[in-house]
Amino acid sequence: MKARSVHIVTLGCPKNRVDSEIMLGSLLEAGWDLSREPEQADVIVINTCGFIEDAKEESIQAILEAAQLKEKGRAKKLVVAGCLSQRYPEELARELPEVDHFLGSGAPVEILRVLEEDAPRQLYPDPDFIQSAATPRRNSLPSYTAYLKIAEGCDNRCAFCIIPALRGKQRSRPIDDIVREAEHLVAEGAREINLVAQDLTAYGHDLPGRPRLHELLHALGQVEGLRWIRLHYAYPRHFPDALIEAIRDIPTVVKYLDMPLQHASDRLLRAMRRGGTSRSLRELLARLRAEIPGIVLRTSLIVGLPGETEEDFEILCDFVREQRFDHLGVFRYSREEGTAAAEMDEQVPDEVKWERWERLMQLQAELRKEQQQAYVGRELEVLVEGPHEETEHLLVGRHAGQAPEIDGQVILNDLSDEDVAPGDLVRVRIDEAYEYDLVGAVVGVVSKAPRRVPERIPLPIFSR
Ligand code: SF4
Repeated sequence: MKARSVHIVTLGCPKNRVDSEIMLGSLLEAGWDLSREPEQADVIVINTCGFIEDAKEESIQAILEAAQLKEKGRAKKLVVAGCLSQRYPEELARELPEVDHFLGSGAPVEILRVLEEDAPRQLYPDPDFIQSAATPRRNSLPSYTAYLKIAEGCDNRCAFCIIPALRGKQRSRPIDDIVREAEHLVAEGAREINLVAQDLTAYGHDLPGRPRLHELLHALGQVEGLRWIRLHYAYPRHFPDALIEAIRDIPTVVKYLDMPLQHASDRLLRAMRRGGTSRSLRELLARLRAEIPGIVLRTSLIVGLPGETEEDFEILCDFVREQRFDHLGVFRYSREEGTAAAEMDEQVPDEVKWERWERLMQLQAELRKEQQQAYVGRELEVLVEGPHEETEHLLVGRHAGQAPEIDGQVILNDLSDEDVAPGDLVRVRIDEAYEYDLVGAVVGVVSKAPRRVPERIPLPIFSR
């Protein structure tokens, strides 16, 4: 019997990408093929995001496009999974008759069951699933880099956020299980591992013995062949000295931290139920910079939360001017039913949200120019990624201060006769700087990739 093929579309964050990789791993292990083109697939899976309005609209759009393909094309089944499915089970089931199966956010491993057995149309196990190193998974990034989900769910209750309702309580994976998966990813060619969770800093507080994130980092620091360990989605509370020391002292932990702060006005931080103050945020950022010279900081901020005044917004702008983040994501507040903020008075008009979003993005663009210029003349360690998307005559990579997919690249315009390949670590002298990218010349090879890096598995990814 001809192998059946699946096409998976992933929306949202890297944690959702990992769930798509679990669905892909489960199907490939069972003899299915991955179809690069949805038109050619027997089954189309849309792994949705349901976090904010824009993401919900993109998810619906992707489902409707797949439904049209099913009507016209070859696809026999359409499966909708992920957070939008978890959030609106009855509405989606009623309004999207074209969809054959709906999976909840806790059901990526159930994909085989719904496609091979006589499974119910809707499958919503309690979102208490947490993968392990034994869970089938196929990395969808080039094998020299991978995401590693160390925990799922969240015990915080930020007033604007629906995620705890969709992903459940915090569930951390034991350290030895995470190390096993890291070793597996390294054996598959990974040189960089990007740690993700909803709240990375809360890692382990739900486990017996309450192991902490710094203990996990020390264990991952022992993994042979792993060169870069990156931290995403840290929460600025409960940030122990031991964690700062671990980031500083473990050679393979890159001096990079993604830590959403969301706002800097004390009034707004209280309204957001973030549990911190502008003073505690400043003190933490100062500690990080003092203890880890040259640390690269990425953060996310929200404008337009209910009750945000022009004065609050000015406080936020002053904070951004003062802190000079290396990378900044700005979101317009999205009123999400089921969250505390949705019930708040003084909802901010959309045009005011847009106007503040544009002003903050503009401010960051100006600050960023200076920061980028500061790289000119420096030598950086760069992970080579492959040909430039516009011309195969140029190779690109990322320095340790650039996370995959979100922080810009280093364009290698002079290889100095070095035989450089994807996955290699090289030293690059930076000669030019642009808004997001840097340009430079290879001045030496630090370490060759252990193996030729196979081509990227094309899991279409939309939005972040
Ligand atoms: S930490 Fe806050 S914003 Fe992040 S997932 Fe948890 S509740 Fe949402």
